[in-house]
Amino acid sequence: MSLNLNVEDANNNSISLEDCYNNAWVCLLNKPQKLQKYVCAVCKQIANNAVELHCGQHAEVYIIGEKCLKNHLKNNKEKCPIENHQGCKYSEVRFVRQDVNALQVICPRQYKLGQYKGKIQTHRPKMTDEGMEEDGSEEKNGNVCNYQGTIKSLYSHLEGNCKLKPFHCEFKKFGCNTMLNQSHRDKHMLSEMKEHLDLVDKHINELQNDLTKLRKENNDLHLQLTKKQSEVEGLTEEKNELNAQILQYQQQSQVKPQLIVEKKEEKTEEKVLRDMADIDSKQLLKSCQDMIALSSLVIPALQNTVDYLLISEDKRKIKLKNNQWNNFRFGIYLLGEGVILTADCGKSNNATEFELGYLMIKTSHLWIKHKKSAIDCSGLGYPSDLGPGKGGQATTIGNGSVGGGGGYGTKGGEGTENGDGKGGDVYGEETLSKQIFCGSGGGTCREDEHIIHRGGRGGGVIELVVEQQLINHGKLQCNGKRGEDSSTFGGGGSGGSILIKLQSHNALQHTMGNITCTGGNHSNENKGGDGRVAIYGIKITAEEMKNINPKPFHQIRLKHSKKNKKLNHFK
Ligand SMILES: [Zn+2]
Ligand SMILES: [Zn+2]
Ligand SMILES: [Zn+2]
Ligand SMILES: [Zn+2]
Repeated sequence: MSLNLNVEDANNNSISLEDCYNNAWVCLLNKPQKLQKYVCAVCKQIANNAVELHCGQHAEVYIIGEKCLKNHLKNNKEKCPIENHQGCKYSEVRFVRQDVNALQVICPRQYKLGQYKGKIQTHRPKMTDEGMEEDGSEEKNGNVCNYQGTIKSLYSHLEGNCKLKPFHCEFKKFGCNTMLNQSHRDKHMLSEMKEHLDLVDKHINELQNDLTKLRKENNDLHLQLTKKQSEVEGLTEEKNELNAQILQYQQQSQVKPQLIVEKKEEKTEEKVLRDMADIDSKQLLKSCQDMIALSSLVIPALQNTVDYLLISEDKRKIKLKNNQWNNFRFGIYLLGEGVILTADCGKSNNATEFELGYLMIKTSHLWIKHKKSAIDCSGLGYPSDLGPGKGGQATTIGNGSVGGGGGYGTKGGEGTENGDGKGGDVYGEETLSKQIFCGSGGGTCREDEHIIHRGGRGGGVIELVVEQQLINHGKLQCNGKRGEDSSTFGGGGSGGSILIKLQSHNALQHTMGNITCTGGNHSNENKGGDGRVAIYGIKITAEEMKNINPKPFHQIRLKHSKKNKKLNHFK
């Protein structure tokens, strides 16, 4: 049986540390006579892990290596290697094992190379049980293992410091699978140089191919990404359009309750109100704050001053188209301080050439944020001495005579002296749904033959349709103007008209705020009369009523306004 190492060798042989030990190898450092009592009865080599065979069938006791015995029994149907019988009896012999383990040997790899030239030392005072590394006086080039030591310490030598221990070629990662030890290495590197370089080339080629493939995959992915991105953009646009449509539908659908109500006149006011609230609660109404977030984020395509009107700057005066509907489908938001919204009546403002201010606004939302901001058509009604309720002119020159105040919702005020102008008459009707008028001018008076003091202009008209939410922290006003004065005093103009329709009823929280159509010169005897206010579609609390002057005509049902109602223009 040849010597085998169970460690992978340079030539892919294995060295077994379980088989019995090669006799010739062990004899290199031990006298053969001394070894006779350790010889394995099966393989005739030095018994490894010795056992004693003491079957009853034969008187003599035999020493056998444990692996040899087990292999024999396995291969011979459990029959004894000495005599052909079953039921072998054996046990380990500790003293033989100890003796064998203590035997001195040289490195089995060195023995296998057949190049052992070391001196066999009979006296080795430095020798320990763990073995001893010889300082090889010859062969210092590293191709020789000069190890001498006990069999017991062989394993740690072969796995540890053995100079002949095999290792992988450095080019293994490129595909060279040769095992080397130090004696082979230089020769291998020289002889395999070309093969090694070829392997490296091949590896580089493979890497380059991989790289090309990855680059292509990367390009493909990039193309896919670009495609997906444009898909996302397209879908986002679609989504925005849909959002805009939804808002539009919401607004359109809110007109319906009004029609339903018109057909069911027999219902009580309370019942109608409940029905309206039911319908409203099913709709997705938006507050003013919601709308501002929506118009800037969700619907970036919406345009300020076109789709909606949002003024954040302070002290801006905005003139909207006069005498025609100004539609802001996505709301009006006066967020700055001192922002004034009015009707564009041109510059004409005299007795013969003037334009009455009639501001018509239809919007989803109206939010007036600051108390100094307003929708204001004050003084855009009839000028001095004009209008259906014009104030009377003073008949006396000088002498403190005053012109009469214009009338509209109430009669204009007048002085008590002879020669004071008379107060103007009441006209129009309270619902503002059949007729709607501007306030009338106050009457003039004369300080002397040359100096005339004109009466104040009447208030204009605001007609406001709010589809969802009204928040008024500022003012809605169409007041009459004060007359010119010094020692005499022109009459005050009468207030104009404000008509408000809230189509969402009380589904959202509204703030009515300050609403006035009062006459000019209001603390004087020749003050202008009140204008008219009418509010539809919402409950108004007593607290809110205090800030509305004059007291409005008020109806929770939305009046179906006549299509042809127009500003009644008296000259
Ligand atoms: Zn054996
Ligand atoms: Zn036997
Ligand atoms: Zn060795
Ligand atoms: Zn190699």
